[in-house]
Amino acid sequence: MLRLTDIKLPLDHPESALRDAILARLGISADELTGYTVARRSYDARTRGSIVLIYSVDVETPREAELLRALEGESGKAVSDAERYGKGSASKASASKASPIKLGPTPDTSYKFVAQAPANLPLRPLVIGMGPCGLFAGLLLAQMGFRPIILERGKAVRERTVDTFGLWRKRVLNPESNVQFGEGGAGTFSDGKLHSQISDKLHHGRKVLREFVLAGAPEEIEYVSKPHIGTFRLVSMVEHMRATIEALGGEIRFSSRVDDVLVETDAAGVRHVRGVTLSNGEQLRADHVVMALGHSARDTFAMLHERGVFLEAKPFSIGFRIEHPQSLIDKARFGPQAGHPLLGAADYKLVHHCRNGRSVYSFCMCPGGTVVAAASEPGRVVTNGMSQYSRNERNANAGIVVGITPEDYAPYGEGPLAGVALQRHWESNAFVLGGGEYDAPGQLVGDFLRKRPSHEFGAVLPSYTPGVRLGDLGEALPDYAITAIREALPAFDRQIKGFAMHDAVLTGVETRTSSPLRITRGEDGHSLNTRGLFPAGEGAGYAGGILSAGVDGIKTAEAVALSILRKLA
Ligand SMILES: Cc1cc2nc3c(=O)[nH]c(=O)nc-3n(C[C@H](O)[C@H](O)[C@H](O)COP(=O)(O)OP(=O)(O)OC[C@H]3O[C@@H](n4cnc5c(N)ncnc54)[C@H](O)[C@@H]3O)c2cc1C
Repeated sequence: MLRLTDIKLPLDHPESALRDAILARLGISADELTGYTVARRSYDARTRGSIVLIYSVDVETPREAELLRALEGESGKAVSDAERYGKGSASKASASKASPIKLGPTPDTSYKFVAQAPANLPLRPLVIGMGPCGLFAGLLLAQMGFRPIILERGKAVRERTVDTFGLWRKRVLNPESNVQFGEGGAGTFSDGKLHSQISDKLHHGRKVLREFVLAGAPEEIEYVSKPHIGTFRLVSMVEHMRATIEALGGEIRFSSRVDDVLVETDAAGVRHVRGVTLSNGEQLRADHVVMALGHSARDTFAMLHERGVFLEAKPFSIGFRIEHPQSLIDKARFGPQAGHPLLGAADYKLVHHCRNGRSVYSFCMCPGGTVVAAASEPGRVVTNGMSQYSRNERNANAGIVVGITPEDYAPYGEGPLAGVALQRHWESNAFVLGGGEYDAPGQLVGDFLRKRPSHEFGAVLPSYTPGVRLGDLGEALPDYAITAIREALPAFDRQIKGFAMHDAVLTGVETRTSSPLRITRGEDGHSLNTRGLFPAGEGAGYAGGILSAGVDGIKTAEAVALSILRKLA
């Protein structure tokens, strides 16, 4: 098969235009085009009112070998398909920016298993945590025949949904079953955005997307440039993947919190993991334990630190959620083409480097979504965002966060857990500012910029439940963060007109942007100082999002499988 890239067509091109573009570019007749599939579809919205779709397609033709030979070296020829085949709105400006169409053999992105379990496996591997990382580690180990046991502290996803709604609707937090903990992990109640900027030479991301489609995700996630699933479908997909793992001989235990790891030191002074102890006192023996804990397993981080597992503080970010009318973002990004079904609700990505040396950026933007209560500890308030697949709620929301580093954690404590202490401090403070019943503290952007408390909502009604208590967010984060956000919002307004509108709502605090620490591992996937312990995913500092956590789960499963085989050799 041949892959043709950079085919640019106007947003409203007729269905036949893509086929025509392929035929013209390859110089073949209609009967020589046996078939084609879209490998990727993105858009270029830099010229408002003239949005261009960009396709990569995989083409089947009997003239493949001949075409490859003939077209070799021709990639320097810039051809604007929008200009050639579009019957609409591609402007001269965007057409003149057209990059050359490239042609080559379709890359093989299929997944290749690295190992197969022997029939006489002495000890089954354990996977701690069933977020995207643990789910994919467990799935891959099961697919390779290693029959993993997955231990998840939270409940199965349907029961967990009830508990999560308990906080959002009744102000009752279950510390073991909430937005952060339970089957599916932190990303289950989310926008289900699946893009990631990780380098992925082995195409593990494709394996994640394929498995998601097999579990019920829309097929478009395999080719659109910014795929998302939405929270509703994620719930049933997680159940589907659980059933697959079980059918392959894996085992999943809910309400099974790991409270301790058993570590032995051999005669050479090397530490080895030998199993875990659950919260009910049960011990499970294992020589291979994947730690896919997520960024909120603070008690488990403390336990690992106590057991001498190597941890180190790492940078993360803190800030607020901001809400605008989605229509404002759509108009700013898409102009007159706002509302086009192929574009959906618009997103944004913003960054501003401040005079005080801090960087402020938008984080986890959720078009047409809601701000959610994401606490996992009593007496603390944390925000995050989610959407349904349709992304048709009235508000757009995103974290507006400031990067911080381990030097900033010093006032809160020492060592690898100091970042956790900082998070706890500001989350407890937000609980108090919100009135002590899980409302989030909030402020209108106009008032925040003018340093005066807010008393009344305006055009934007916040979506966070159980509720938002208006006041002054000026003391909801450290001074340097407040100063940086006050400088960034007007700067963002210059990129998206209306971003700093008076009535936009800020809610706080956004403190769980990524893990505050790393459970450092070596090249072979083992913890730096404890053999057999495989730190993985976001909590270990090796992922930041659903897709990258899934990819890290795959990599970790491979490392575990190879380690088991090496041990048996
Ligand atoms: C509301 C919200 C919205 C988000 N939206 C998006 C989005 O749209 N796109 C995106 O890419 N990312 C999103 N994220 C981030 C994403 O969810 C995480 O990056 C991802 O889930 C990390 O995966 P993980 O498997 O490493 O950890 P987690 O998903 O956090 O999973 C860790 C699991 O380990 C379990 N666990 C912890 N300690 C123990 C223990 N001691 N014993 C047993 N089990 C334990 C936890 O219960 C949890 O289920 C969102 C997060 C939140 C909270």
